[in-house]
Amino acid sequence: MQWEMLPSPNFKQAVIDAQKICVLTMGVLEKHGEHLCLGTDYLTAHRIGCLAGERENVMVFPPFYFGQIYEARCFPGCVTLEPSLTLQVIQGVCDEIGRNGFRKIVIYNGHGGNDFMLNYFAQTQLWKQKPYTVYVQEKWIPDPELWKQWLAIREAKDTGGHACETETSYTMCDYPQGVRMDQIAEPTHSLDRLKAFETDGFLGIKWYSKYPDHYAGDARTANPEKGKIWQEILVKGLADFIKRVKADEVAPALEKEFFEREKSIRNFEK
Ligand SMILES: [Zn+2]
Repeated sequence: MQWEMLPSPNFKQAVIDAQKICVLTMGVLEKHGEHLCLGTDYLTAHRIGCLAGERENVMVFPPFYFGQIYEARCFPGCVTLEPSLTLQVIQGVCDEIGRNGFRKIVIYNGHGGNDFMLNYFAQTQLWKQKPYTVYVQEKWIPDPELWKQWLAIREAKDTGGHACETETSYTMCDYPQGVRMDQIAEPTHSLDRLKAFETDGFLGIKWYSKYPDHYAGDARTANPEKGKIWQEILVKGLADFIKRVKADEVAPALEKEFFEREKSIRNFEK
């Protein structure tokens, strides 16, 4: 079920049919080497969200492309919002999903640069009680069997993970118009310019220090056939996550308990 495709009179029933679960897919607008389109992350994430959403019969929110991508602001076409506004927008979107009747929101992220922000966002849900629970899928492929399948078809030795063989391949499946195979740049390796902090330091400029052209890996061996296999692995991973969210009664109960205890601190005189 895609939110934007439903007529308004059918929406209430759709919320019930979706068991009050909505998937919010996240990506950004950023440079992807010389050969992939700016929208790669949000387009492919939304497609994976829709495929998994169909399998599990849950709602999927329209494509969303505001997130953490400050490290690409030195390239044309990148779009970012002021940092605190980004979090406010994501919270505002979740609040609207909740206002429309959903009680569980699954965040599927197609952009590595969002990872820390989304975990922090999930953490901030304990600031104020909400009528919904947020579940961030933190890892795409926790199943070791699926991970084996993922690696089995990978040919590229440079696996930086940005506009690389895998990402280029699964973009080719549904958005061939966003891929220009004749414009792939030479493979890149990390430049290791902040090697002193590689294992125990984090800096905003760290990723840029490794890949200043916003291309990490080797896309030359990408093709849509491999892309289909990788996409299917991602869809399976998300569908399995949604299944567990459907069955989960623990997180909402724990949140209820948590906020009752938190309220009792505020009302200690009563
Ligand atoms: Zn990407």
